Amino acid sequence: MSIADNISYVRSRISAACNTAGRNADDVTLIAVSKTKPVSMLQEAYDAGCRDFGENKVQEIMEKYDKLPSDIRWHMIGHLQTNKVKYIIDKVYMIHSVDSTRLADAISKEAVKHGVTMKILLEVNVAGEDSKYGASVDETGELWRYAASLPGIEVCGLMTVAPYTDDPETNRQHFVVLRDIIVDINRENKDNNIGVQLSMGMTGDYEVAIEEGATYIRVGTGIFGERDYSV
Ligand SMILES: *Cc1c(COP(=O)(O)O)cnc(C)c1O
Repeated sequence: MSIADNISYVRSRISAACNTAGRNADDVTLIAVSKTKPVSMLQEAYDAGCRDFGENKVQEIMEKYDKLPSDIRWHMIGHLQTNKVKYIIDKVYMIHSVDSTRLADAISKEAVKHGVTMKILLEVNVAGEDSKYGASVDETGELWRYAASLPGIEVCGLMTVAPYTDDPETNRQHFVVLRDIIVDINRENKDNNIGVQLSMGMTGDYEVAIEEGATYIRVGTGIFGERDYSV
């Protein structure tokens, strides 16, 4: 199957999941996760209608950015070091992986310096896995209050990378946790204009994530095929 075929297949499954959940398919944004893939493949996805691309390395965003159309919205979805924020602050549309006050501070500082407002999501380690980045469920409310108080930052919602699984149903509980946290935060901040974006669901589990309220799903393998890290 071509990349265009893969995208239309994923889109049809998004529609079906939205139908099941009684949601509008326009409320779910598909992010094509293009890490490790060459620019030519991203261009194919672009030609098939994708405008949102996800990358997890600063260097890779910098390399791809100038070679592709300027109306692409780049999503930084990987762990971000504070000293690299400056390279992407005027390139990315949203940073999904903010998991510390230090990183929030660094983003705020660079955003102010560049005169921009950076959209961010807070990454939550919902399953408490040692191998994963992200704030703990308990820390998230405080991190939100802190980040929301900083200039140059718009806190738009939450992101999680759920455990790897062969059975997407096992991740439903984690998606529910992420949604519950944002419901709590919104209740607490009902006077403010608070974000409600939920970035959750990958190739193996995006339909379950949509049923539980995902507004961004991040699909790599399902669009571009398996990644080869050996090259
Ligand atoms: C690689 C990656 C994805 C995409 O994973 P697939 O299983 O290939 O769809 C999604 N989110 C993050 C944070 C990733 O690093």
